[in-house]
Amino acid sequence: MTDTLCAQYQALGISPEVLSYGRQVLDQLAPRFAKIDETAEYNQLKVIKAMQEARVSEACLLGTTGYGYNDLGRETLEKVYANVFHTQAALVRPQITCGTHALALALMSNLRPGDELLSPVGKPYDTLEEVIGIRPSRGSLKEYGIRYRQVDLQSGSRFDWEGIKNAVNEKTKLVTIQRSKGYQTRESFSVEQIGELIAFLKLLKPDLICMVDNCYGEFTQTIEPTDVGADLCVGSLIKNPGGGLAPIGGYLAGKEACIENAACRLTSPGLGREVGATLNVLPSFYQGLFLAPTVTAGALKGAIFAANLYERLGFLVVPSGSAERYDIIQAVEFGTPEGLIAFCEGIQSAAPVDSFVTPTPWDMPGYDSQVIMAAGAFISGASIELSADGPLKPPYAAYFQGGLTWEHAKFGILKSLQRCLDKKIVSKLPSGL
Ligand SMILES: *Cc1c(COP(=O)(O)O)cnc(C)c1O
Repeated sequence: MTDTLCAQYQALGISPEVLSYGRQVLDQLAPRFAKIDETAEYNQLKVIKAMQEARVSEACLLGTTGYGYNDLGRETLEKVYANVFHTQAALVRPQITCGTHALALALMSNLRPGDELLSPVGKPYDTLEEVIGIRPSRGSLKEYGIRYRQVDLQSGSRFDWEGIKNAVNEKTKLVTIQRSKGYQTRESFSVEQIGELIAFLKLLKPDLICMVDNCYGEFTQTIEPTDVGADLCVGSLIKNPGGGLAPIGGYLAGKEACIENAACRLTSPGLGREVGATLNVLPSFYQGLFLAPTVTAGALKGAIFAANLYERLGFLVVPSGSAERYDIIQAVEFGTPEGLIAFCEGIQSAAPVDSFVTPTPWDMPGYDSQVIMAAGAFISGASIELSADGPLKPPYAAYFQGGLTWEHAKFGILKSLQRCLDKKIVSKLPSGL
Protein backbone atom coordinates (compact mmCIF):
# COMPACT_ATOMS: atom_id res chain seq x y z
CA MET A 1 0.00 0.00 0.00
CA THR A 2 1.43 3.38 -0.98
CA ASP A 3 2.16 6.08 1.59
CA THR A 4 -0.36 8.41 0.00
CA LEU A 5 -3.11 5.79 0.37
CA CYS A 6 -2.15 5.15 4.01
CA ALA A 7 -2.22 8.87 4.65
CA GLN A 8 -5.67 9.13 3.12
CA TYR A 9 -6.97 6.34 5.41
CA GLN A 10 -5.37 8.08 8.37
CA ALA A 11 -7.00 11.35 7.39
CA LEU A 12 -10.31 9.48 7.61
CA GLY A 13 -9.56 8.16 11.08
CA ILE A 14 -8.09 4.70 10.39
CA SER A 15 -4.98 4.04 12.45
CA PRO A 16 -1.91 2.34 10.94
CA GLU A 17 -2.43 -0.73 13.15
CA VAL A 18 -6.03 -1.26 11.96
CA LEU A 19 -4.91 -0.73 8.38
CA SER A 20 -2.08 -3.21 8.76
CA TYR A 21 -4.32 -5.86 10.36
CA GLY A 22 -6.85 -5.35 7.59
CA ARG A 23 -4.15 -5.82 4.99
CA GLN A 24 -2.98 -9.09 6.55
CA VAL A 25 -6.54 -10.42 6.52
CA LEU A 26 -7.00 -9.31 2.92
CA ASP A 27 -3.80 -10.93 1.71
CA GLN A 28 -5.29 -14.32 2.51
CA LEU A 29 -8.52 -13.63 0.66
CA ALA A 30 -7.06 -13.10 -2.81
CA PRO A 31 -8.11 -16.49 -4.25
CA ARG A 32 -11.70 -16.04 -3.04
CA PHE A 33 -11.90 -12.54 -4.42
CA ALA A 34 -10.68 -13.85 -7.77
CA LYS A 35 -13.58 -16.31 -7.83
CA ILE A 36 -16.06 -13.54 -7.03
CA ASP A 37 -14.62 -11.47 -9.88
CA GLU A 38 -15.10 -14.41 -12.23
CA THR A 39 -18.75 -14.75 -11.22
CA ALA A 40 -19.22 -11.01 -11.75
CA GLU A 41 -17.58 -11.24 -15.17
CA TYR A 42 -19.92 -14.06 -16.19
CA ASN A 43 -22.98 -12.21 -14.90
CA GLN A 44 -21.91 -8.96 -16.55
CA LEU A 45 -21.85 -10.77 -19.88
CA LYS A 46 -25.20 -12.40 -19.08
CA VAL A 47 -26.79 -8.98 -18.52
CA ILE A 48 -25.24 -7.48 -21.66
CA LYS A 49 -26.43 -10.44 -23.72
CA ALA A 50 -29.93 -10.07 -22.26
CA MET A 51 -29.98 -6.38 -23.18
CA GLN A 52 -28.68 -6.94 -26.70
CA GLU A 53 -31.13 -9.76 -27.40
CA ALA A 54 -34.00 -7.58 -26.21
CA ARG A 55 -32.74 -4.84 -28.57
CA VAL A 56 -32.49 -2.15 -25.90
CA SER A 57 -32.33 1.20 -27.68
CA GLU A 58 -31.99 4.81 -26.63
CA ALA A 59 -35.74 5.21 -26.96
CA CYS A 60 -36.19 2.59 -24.21
CA LEU A 61 -34.78 5.03 -21.68
CA LEU A 62 -37.68 7.46 -22.11
CA GLY A 63 -40.57 6.92 -19.77
CA THR A 64 -44.31 7.37 -20.09
CA THR A 65 -46.92 9.22 -18.06
CA GLY A 66 -50.62 8.71 -17.41
CA TYR A 67 -51.80 5.19 -18.25
CA GLY A 68 -48.45 4.23 -19.69
CA TYR A 69 -49.85 2.48 -22.77
CA ASN A 70 -47.27 1.17 -25.24
CA ASP A 71 -44.36 1.87 -22.95
CA LEU A 72 -41.47 0.61 -25.07
CA GLY A 73 -38.92 0.98 -22.26
CA ARG A 74 -41.05 -0.93 -19.76
CA GLU A 75 -41.86 -3.74 -22.18
CA THR A 76 -38.25 -4.09 -23.27
CA LEU A 77 -36.98 -4.01 -19.69
CA GLU A 78 -39.35 -6.84 -18.82
CA LYS A 79 -37.90 -8.80 -21.77
CA VAL A 80 -34.41 -8.10 -20.44
CA TYR A 81 -35.31 -9.48 -17.01
CA ALA A 82 -36.94 -12.52 -18.64
CA ASN A 83 -33.70 -13.05 -20.60
CA VAL A 84 -31.50 -12.72 -17.50
CA PHE A 85 -33.63 -15.20 -15.55
CA HIS A 86 -34.29 -17.43 -18.59
CA THR A 87 -38.04 -17.23 -18.09
CA GLN A 88 -41.04 -16.75 -20.35
CA ALA A 89 -41.94 -13.40 -18.84
CA ALA A 90 -41.24 -10.81 -16.15
CA LEU A 91 -42.96 -7.97 -14.36
CA VAL A 92 -40.59 -5.15 -13.36
CA ARG A 93 -42.34 -2.08 -12.05
CA PRO A 94 -41.89 1.03 -9.94
CA GLN A 95 -45.48 0.45 -8.75
CA ILE A 96 -44.17 -2.58 -6.83
CA THR A 97 -43.13 -0.70 -3.70
CA CYS A 98 -40.70 -3.14 -2.07
CA GLY A 99 -39.69 -6.77 -1.74
CA THR A 100 -42.55 -7.65 0.59
CA HIS A 101 -45.00 -6.15 -1.88
CA ALA A 102 -43.51 -8.16 -4.76
CA LEU A 103 -43.79 -11.37 -2.74
CA ALA A 104 -47.33 -10.56 -1.56
CA LEU A 105 -48.28 -9.86 -5.16
CA ALA A 106 -46.90 -13.18 -6.35
CA LEU A 107 -48.76 -15.06 -3.61
CA MET A 108 -52.08 -13.22 -3.71
CA SER A 109 -52.32 -13.41 -7.49
CA ASN A 110 -51.42 -17.05 -7.89
CA LEU A 111 -53.42 -18.50 -5.00
CA ARG A 112 -57.21 -18.77 -4.79
CA PRO A 113 -59.55 -19.41 -1.83
CA GLY A 114 -59.23 -23.02 -0.72
CA ASP A 115 -55.64 -23.36 -1.95
CA GLU A 116 -52.78 -24.16 0.36
CA LEU A 117 -49.39 -22.48 0.53
CA LEU A 118 -46.38 -24.45 1.73
CA SER A 119 -43.02 -23.28 3.05
CA PRO A 120 -40.69 -26.30 3.13
CA VAL A 121 -37.82 -24.19 4.51
CA GLY A 122 -39.21 -23.14 7.87
CA LYS A 123 -40.40 -19.74 8.92
CA PRO A 124 -40.45 -17.15 6.12
CA TYR A 125 -39.07 -13.60 6.32
CA ASP A 126 -40.68 -11.55 9.13
CA THR A 127 -42.78 -9.29 6.94
CA LEU A 128 -44.35 -12.30 5.18
CA GLU A 129 -45.89 -13.46 8.43
CA GLU A 130 -48.52 -10.77 8.09
CA VAL A 131 -48.94 -11.37 4.36
CA ILE A 132 -49.67 -15.02 5.01
CA GLY A 133 -51.59 -14.46 8.24
CA ILE A 134 -49.20 -16.35 10.54
CA ARG A 135 -49.57 -13.18 12.61
CA PRO A 136 -53.19 -11.96 12.34
CA SER A 137 -53.31 -9.10 9.88
CA ARG A 138 -55.81 -7.15 7.82
CA GLY A 139 -55.96 -8.42 4.24
CA SER A 140 -53.80 -11.49 4.82
CA LEU A 141 -54.04 -14.64 2.68
CA LYS A 142 -55.70 -16.27 5.66
CA GLU A 143 -58.59 -13.78 5.51
CA TYR A 144 -59.18 -14.96 1.93
CA GLY A 145 -59.34 -18.60 2.95
CA ILE A 146 -55.86 -19.56 1.83
CA ARG A 147 -54.23 -21.95 4.28
CA TYR A 148 -50.58 -22.20 5.14
CA ARG A 149 -48.35 -25.08 6.08
CA GLN A 150 -44.72 -25.01 7.10
CA VAL A 151 -42.13 -27.74 7.33
CA ASP A 152 -39.20 -26.73 9.49
CA LEU A 153 -35.62 -27.40 8.53
CA GLN A 154 -33.80 -30.19 10.30
CA SER A 155 -30.85 -29.35 12.52
CA GLY A 156 -30.98 -25.80 11.28
CA SER A 157 -30.38 -26.11 7.57
CA ARG A 158 -31.37 -29.48 6.08
CA PHE A 159 -34.60 -30.19 4.23
CA ASP A 160 -36.99 -32.55 6.03
CA TRP A 161 -37.77 -34.69 2.99
CA GLU A 162 -40.24 -36.94 4.84
CA GLY A 163 -42.02 -33.98 6.41
CA ILE A 164 -42.27 -32.24 3.04
CA LYS A 165 -43.69 -35.37 1.41
CA ASN A 166 -46.34 -35.56 4.12
CA ALA A 167 -47.21 -31.87 3.83
CA VAL A 168 -47.95 -31.82 0.09
CA ASN A 169 -51.62 -32.64 -0.52
CA GLU A 170 -54.32 -32.12 -3.15
CA LYS A 171 -54.83 -28.52 -1.98
CA THR A 172 -51.16 -27.51 -2.12
CA LYS A 173 -50.89 -25.02 -4.95
CA LEU A 174 -47.77 -22.96 -4.34
CA VAL A 175 -44.49 -23.53 -2.55
CA THR A 176 -42.42 -20.61 -1.28
CA ILE A 177 -38.68 -21.09 -0.88
CA GLN A 178 -36.55 -18.36 0.68
CA ARG A 179 -33.02 -18.39 -0.76
CA SER A 180 -31.36 -16.09 1.75
CA LYS A 181 -31.46 -16.76 5.47
CA GLY A 182 -32.49 -13.15 5.95
CA TYR A 183 -32.10 -12.43 9.65
CA GLN A 184 -32.36 -16.02 10.81
CA THR A 185 -29.57 -18.27 11.99
CA ARG A 186 -29.91 -21.01 9.36
CA GLU A 187 -27.64 -21.12 6.33
CA SER A 188 -28.65 -19.61 3.02
CA PHE A 189 -29.36 -22.05 0.21
CA SER A 190 -27.33 -22.39 -2.93
CA VAL A 191 -29.24 -22.41 -6.20
CA GLU A 192 -28.18 -26.05 -6.57
CA GLN A 193 -29.81 -26.97 -3.24
CA ILE A 194 -32.98 -25.14 -4.29
CA GLY A 195 -32.91 -27.12 -7.53
CA GLU A 196 -32.85 -30.41 -5.61
CA LEU A 197 -35.78 -29.31 -3.48
CA ILE A 198 -37.81 -28.24 -6.52
CA ALA A 199 -37.09 -31.52 -8.34
CA PHE A 200 -38.34 -33.42 -5.28
CA LEU A 201 -41.48 -31.27 -5.02
CA LYS A 202 -42.29 -31.65 -8.72
CA LEU A 203 -42.00 -35.42 -8.43
CA LEU A 204 -44.57 -35.32 -5.66
CA LYS A 205 -46.87 -32.98 -7.57
CA PRO A 206 -45.86 -31.83 -11.07
CA ASP A 207 -48.23 -28.84 -11.25
CA LEU A 208 -47.01 -27.16 -8.04
CA ILE A 209 -45.96 -23.56 -8.52
CA CYS A 210 -42.47 -23.26 -7.03
CA MET A 211 -41.70 -19.67 -6.07
CA VAL A 212 -38.35 -18.45 -4.76
CA ASP A 213 -37.91 -15.38 -2.58
CA ASN A 214 -34.70 -14.31 -4.30
CA CYS A 215 -33.99 -11.23 -2.13
CA TYR A 216 -30.25 -10.66 -1.54
CA GLY A 217 -29.35 -13.67 -3.70
CA GLU A 218 -29.30 -12.23 -7.23
CA PHE A 219 -25.96 -12.45 -9.05
CA THR A 220 -24.13 -14.10 -6.13
CA GLN A 221 -23.88 -17.19 -8.35
CA THR A 222 -23.84 -17.69 -12.12
CA ILE A 223 -27.28 -19.32 -12.11
CA GLU A 224 -30.58 -18.20 -10.63
CA PRO A 225 -33.38 -20.35 -9.18
CA THR A 226 -35.32 -20.13 -12.46
CA ASP A 227 -32.41 -22.02 -14.08
CA VAL A 228 -33.14 -25.02 -11.84
CA GLY A 229 -36.89 -25.31 -12.17
CA ALA A 230 -38.38 -22.41 -10.18
CA ASP A 231 -41.61 -21.19 -11.77
CA LEU A 232 -41.27 -17.77 -10.24
CA CYS A 233 -38.42 -15.68 -8.82
CA VAL A 234 -39.21 -12.56 -6.81
CA GLY A 235 -37.12 -9.72 -5.45
CA SER A 236 -36.60 -6.06 -4.62
CA LEU A 237 -34.92 -3.46 -6.82
CA ILE A 238 -33.40 -1.64 -3.85
CA LYS A 239 -31.35 -4.75 -3.22
CA ASN A 240 -29.00 -6.53 -5.66
CA PRO A 241 -30.70 -6.24 -9.08
CA GLY A 242 -31.23 -2.48 -8.85
CA GLY A 243 -27.47 -2.04 -8.64
CA GLY A 244 -27.90 0.82 -6.17
CA LEU A 245 -29.44 3.07 -8.80
CA ALA A 246 -33.08 1.96 -8.89
CA PRO A 247 -34.89 4.30 -6.48
CA ILE A 248 -37.88 1.95 -5.97
CA GLY A 249 -39.36 -1.19 -7.42
CA GLY A 250 -39.68 -4.93 -7.42
CA TYR A 251 -39.56 -7.72 -9.97
CA LEU A 252 -41.12 -11.08 -10.69
CA ALA A 253 -39.66 -13.37 -13.36
CA GLY A 254 -41.24 -16.65 -14.32
CA LYS A 255 -43.87 -18.59 -16.22
CA GLU A 256 -46.14 -16.56 -18.46
CA ALA A 257 -49.30 -17.54 -16.55
CA CYS A 258 -47.80 -16.67 -13.15
CA ILE A 259 -46.65 -13.27 -14.41
CA GLU A 260 -49.99 -12.50 -16.05
CA ASN A 261 -51.78 -13.37 -12.81
CA ALA A 262 -49.50 -10.98 -10.94
CA ALA A 263 -50.00 -8.17 -13.48
CA CYS A 264 -53.78 -8.49 -13.24
CA ARG A 265 -53.52 -8.19 -9.49
CA LEU A 266 -51.04 -5.30 -9.53
CA THR A 267 -53.10 -3.19 -11.93
CA SER A 268 -56.52 -4.65 -12.58
CA PRO A 269 -58.21 -7.59 -14.29
CA GLY A 270 -58.45 -6.73 -17.96
CA LEU A 271 -55.60 -4.24 -17.81
CA GLY A 272 -52.76 -6.49 -16.71
CA ARG A 273 -49.36 -5.55 -18.08
CA GLU A 274 -50.71 -2.93 -20.53
CA VAL A 275 -50.74 -0.04 -18.05
CA GLY A 276 -48.29 1.36 -15.52
CA ALA A 277 -46.42 4.52 -16.44
CA THR A 278 -42.68 4.43 -15.84
CA LEU A 279 -42.29 8.21 -15.33
CA ASN A 280 -38.54 8.86 -15.05
CA VAL A 281 -37.24 5.63 -13.55
CA LEU A 282 -36.22 3.64 -16.64
CA PRO A 283 -32.62 4.87 -16.98
CA SER A 284 -31.92 3.85 -13.36
CA PHE A 285 -33.61 0.46 -13.83
CA TYR A 286 -31.55 -0.34 -16.93
CA GLN A 287 -28.28 1.09 -15.69
CA GLY A 288 -28.76 -0.41 -12.23
CA LEU A 289 -29.26 -3.88 -13.69
CA PHE A 290 -26.20 -3.33 -15.85
CA LEU A 291 -24.12 -2.52 -12.74
CA ALA A 292 -25.75 -5.14 -10.49
CA PRO A 293 -23.24 -7.99 -11.10
CA THR A 294 -20.22 -5.88 -10.05
CA VAL A 295 -22.07 -4.10 -7.24
CA THR A 296 -23.10 -7.49 -5.85
CA ALA A 297 -19.49 -8.67 -6.14
CA GLY A 298 -18.32 -5.67 -4.08
CA ALA A 299 -20.89 -6.43 -1.41
CA LEU A 300 -19.83 -10.09 -1.32
CA LYS A 301 -16.20 -9.11 -0.85
CA GLY A 302 -17.20 -6.80 1.99
CA ALA A 303 -19.13 -9.59 3.71
CA ILE A 304 -16.20 -12.00 3.44
CA PHE A 305 -13.71 -9.37 4.61
CA ALA A 306 -15.85 -8.53 7.66
CA ALA A 307 -16.30 -12.21 8.50
CA ASN A 308 -12.57 -12.89 8.42
CA LEU A 309 -11.59 -9.68 10.18
CA TYR A 310 -13.90 -10.30 13.14
CA GLU A 311 -13.59 -14.08 13.23
CA ARG A 312 -9.85 -13.76 13.86
CA LEU A 313 -10.63 -11.49 16.80
CA GLY A 314 -12.70 -14.24 18.40
CA PHE A 315 -16.22 -13.11 17.48
CA LEU A 316 -18.76 -15.61 16.19
CA VAL A 317 -19.56 -14.71 12.59
CA VAL A 318 -22.33 -16.20 10.43
CA PRO A 319 -21.53 -17.34 7.77
CA SER A 320 -18.00 -18.25 8.87
CA GLY A 321 -15.02 -16.62 7.23
CA SER A 322 -14.44 -19.61 4.96
CA ALA A 323 -18.06 -20.46 4.06
CA GLU A 324 -19.37 -20.27 0.48
CA ARG A 325 -21.70 -17.31 -0.10
CA TYR A 326 -25.20 -17.43 -1.52
CA ASP A 327 -26.31 -13.97 -0.38
CA ILE A 328 -24.72 -10.70 0.75
CA ILE A 329 -25.67 -10.72 4.46
CA GLN A 330 -23.06 -11.08 7.19
CA ALA A 331 -23.78 -11.41 10.90
CA VAL A 332 -21.22 -10.63 13.60
CA GLU A 333 -22.14 -11.51 17.20
CA PHE A 334 -20.78 -9.06 19.72
CA GLY A 335 -22.30 -10.49 22.90
CA THR A 336 -22.78 -7.02 24.40
CA PRO A 337 -24.94 -4.02 23.50
CA GLU A 338 -21.84 -1.81 23.55
CA GLY A 339 -20.17 -3.94 20.87
CA LEU A 340 -23.19 -3.88 18.57
CA ILE A 341 -23.58 -0.12 19.02
CA ALA A 342 -19.88 0.58 18.37
CA PHE A 343 -19.98 -1.51 15.18
CA CYS A 344 -23.01 0.38 13.86
CA GLU A 345 -21.46 3.74 14.78
CA GLY A 346 -18.38 2.80 12.78
CA ILE A 347 -20.42 1.83 9.71
CA GLN A 348 -22.41 5.06 9.93
CA SER A 349 -19.29 7.19 10.18
CA ALA A 350 -18.05 5.72 6.89
CA ALA A 351 -21.16 6.74 4.92
CA PRO A 352 -21.17 9.25 2.06
CA VAL A 353 -24.53 10.59 3.33
CA ASP A 354 -25.31 11.35 7.00
CA SER A 355 -21.84 10.36 8.19
CA PHE A 356 -22.11 12.90 11.01
CA VAL A 357 -25.18 11.39 12.69
CA THR A 358 -24.96 8.91 15.55
CA PRO A 359 -27.22 5.88 15.25
CA THR A 360 -29.12 5.17 18.45
CA PRO A 361 -31.29 2.22 19.47
CA TRP A 362 -35.04 2.83 19.16
CA ASP A 363 -38.35 1.03 19.64
CA MET A 364 -39.16 -0.04 16.11
CA PRO A 365 -42.77 -1.10 15.44
CA GLY A 366 -43.11 -4.86 15.21
CA TYR A 367 -40.00 -5.70 17.21
CA ASP A 368 -39.88 -6.97 20.79
CA SER A 369 -36.62 -5.20 21.60
CA GLN A 370 -34.92 -1.98 20.60
CA VAL A 371 -33.18 -1.96 17.24
CA ILE A 372 -30.13 0.00 16.10
CA MET A 373 -29.58 0.81 12.43
CA ALA A 374 -26.71 2.36 10.55
CA ALA A 375 -27.32 3.58 7.04
CA GLY A 376 -26.13 6.54 5.09
CA ALA A 377 -27.68 5.70 1.77
CA PHE A 378 -28.46 7.60 -1.42
CA ILE A 379 -31.69 5.61 -1.69
CA SER A 380 -33.59 5.51 1.58
CA GLY A 381 -33.51 2.05 3.11
CA ALA A 382 -31.49 0.52 0.27
CA SER A 383 -29.71 -2.45 1.77
CA ILE A 384 -27.48 -2.96 -1.29
CA GLU A 385 -25.78 0.15 0.07
CA LEU A 386 -23.48 -0.24 3.06
CA SER A 387 -25.73 -0.72 6.08
CA ALA A 388 -25.92 -2.54 9.38
CA ASP A 389 -28.57 -3.19 11.97
CA GLY A 390 -29.36 -5.44 14.87
CA PRO A 391 -31.79 -5.96 17.74
CA LEU A 392 -30.56 -4.94 21.21
CA LYS A 393 -30.89 -8.40 22.68
CA PRO A 394 -28.58 -11.42 23.04
CA PRO A 395 -26.50 -12.43 21.17
CA TYR A 396 -26.22 -8.75 20.14
CA ALA A 397 -25.59 -9.61 16.51
CA ALA A 398 -24.95 -6.94 13.91
CA TYR A 399 -26.35 -7.79 10.48
CA PHE A 400 -24.23 -6.14 7.93
CA GLN A 401 -24.70 -5.93 4.17
CA GLY A 402 -24.00 -4.05 1.00
CA GLY A 403 -21.56 -1.51 -0.23
CA LEU A 404 -21.96 -0.10 -3.73
CA THR A 405 -18.22 -0.51 -4.19
CA TRP A 406 -15.77 -2.87 -2.56
CA GLU A 407 -13.63 0.12 -1.61
CA HIS A 408 -16.47 1.63 0.40
CA ALA A 409 -17.33 -1.68 2.06
CA LYS A 410 -13.69 -2.10 3.07
CA PHE A 411 -13.52 1.42 4.48
CA GLY A 412 -16.75 0.92 6.45
CA ILE A 413 -15.53 -2.32 7.97
CA LEU A 414 -12.19 -0.77 8.94
CA LYS A 415 -14.10 2.15 10.50
CA SER A 416 -16.21 -0.28 12.51
CA LEU A 417 -13.10 -2.02 13.81
CA GLN A 418 -11.46 1.30 14.63
CA ARG A 419 -14.55 2.25 16.61
CA CYS A 420 -14.49 -1.08 18.46
CA LEU A 421 -10.84 -0.49 19.36
CA ASP A 422 -11.44 3.09 20.48
CA LYS A 423 -14.36 1.96 22.65
CA LYS A 424 -12.29 -0.95 24.07
CA ILE A 425 -14.70 -3.55 22.65
CA VAL A 426 -11.59 -5.01 21.05
CA SER A 427 -8.51 -4.64 23.24
CA LYS A 428 -5.73 -5.73 20.93
CA LEU A 429 -5.20 -6.69 17.31
CA PRO A 430 -3.30 -9.85 16.47
CA SER A 431 0.05 -9.19 14.87
CA GLY A 432 1.29 -11.55 12.20
CA LEU A 433 -1.39 -13.96 10.97
C1 LIG B 1 -35.53 -7.80 2.22
C2 LIG B 1 -36.22 -9.11 2.15
C3 LIG B 1 -37.60 -9.22 2.00
C4 LIG B 1 -38.53 -8.02 2.02
O1 LIG B 1 -38.12 -6.97 1.29
P1 LIG B 1 -38.53 -5.47 1.69
O2 LIG B 1 -38.08 -4.73 0.49
O3 LIG B 1 -37.78 -5.12 2.92
O4 LIG B 1 -39.99 -5.42 1.87
C5 LIG B 1 -38.13 -10.48 1.88
N1 LIG B 1 -37.37 -11.57 1.94
C6 LIG B 1 -36.04 -11.52 2.12
C7 LIG B 1 -35.24 -12.78 2.19
C8 LIG B 1 -35.42 -10.29 2.22
O5 LIG B 1 -34.10 -10.23 2.39
